[in-house]
Amino acid sequence: MTEFPLTGKRIWVAGHRGMAGAAIARRLASEQCEVLTATRAELDLLSQAQVAAWMGDSKIDAVFLAAATVGGILANSTRPVDFLYQNLVIETNVIHAAWQTGVKKLLFLGSSCIYPRMAEQPMREEALLTGPLEPTNEWYAIAKIAGIKLCQAYRRQYGCDFISAMPTNLYGPGDRYDAAAGHVVAALIMKIHTAKASDSRTVELWGSGRPKREFLFTEDLADACVFVMKNYSGEQFLNVGTGVDMTILELANSIASVIGWKGTFTFNTSKPDGTPRKVMDVGRLGALGWSATTGFEAGLKQAYDWYLANVL
Ligand code: GDP
Repeated sequence: MTEFPLTGKRIWVAGHRGMAGAAIARRLASEQCEVLTATRAELDLLSQAQVAAWMGDSKIDAVFLAAATVGGILANSTRPVDFLYQNLVIETNVIHAAWQTGVKKLLFLGSSCIYPRMAEQPMREEALLTGPLEPTNEWYAIAKIAGIKLCQAYRRQYGCDFISAMPTNLYGPGDRYDAAAGHVVAALIMKIHTAKASDSRTVELWGSGRPKREFLFTEDLADACVFVMKNYSGEQFLNVGTGVDMTILELANSIASVIGWKGTFTFNTSKPDGTPRKVMDVGRLGALGWSATTGFEAGLKQAYDWYLANVL
């Protein structure tokens, strides 16, 4: 039985221009609900007054809170104020206004970087706050941990049905193709495509190529978000991932094969590796009945096609 049917509901996707939010908005098109969005020009999420007024006017039943300041390892480690302050303010504004305006359900999206740097792998939800964070993204992690706690606090004190999901590293259509701010999959698609186009035989990877990461396709994330919105309620947040990881060098080889580039990788060890390994235990969500379905090669191909059609 569906716990929270979406049929006929007014649903706000906060952050619909971002990779995750856009995928959620696309996924909601196949539910019989009304999807609300607001552009940055219409609604500044950093303004408490604007958020309160917009939500007060919009008669929202449910919120997918996918709006955040996000970025790859370099952006995260060099713009601490943006990642800490902006994320804290966005979460606080939206979650507080959701309570004030009687929103019936809210799903807050966090990140796998909330876990301690040396958390036991695969990382179980219980690992939260059991050790020091990875320094390259602790600003973002602290903000996301605060978001989880806000949802739990409004649930405890005011009975709000606010839940949280922690996606692992994402890739897919709508990714940010920006060498300085982007994440590794987008960065390597750009670098390897450029190498192929210019007949270059080498591509530089940041760090050692040895860190291990798990990658979730955006459309799978969106499907998981809709699934938990409909079927899950509880103080405990849920990991969302594939449960499978690979080294950065293996990732680079997969992308090279999808793009059809043959060459070798060099390693710039003056750039950070970040956390040595990050893979989710996805048992909790699996037990509820959801698992990722997109194969990695198929997902990479769609990400590359989107890049060719929309970025170049
Ligand atoms: P993280 O998961 O928070 O560390 O974020 P990223 O997706 O930015 O980086 C993942 C891993 O890929 C890190 O070990 C990076 O050093 C490595 N990496 C290798 N080449 C690149 C690159 O060109 N850009 C980015 N962002 N990461 C890279």
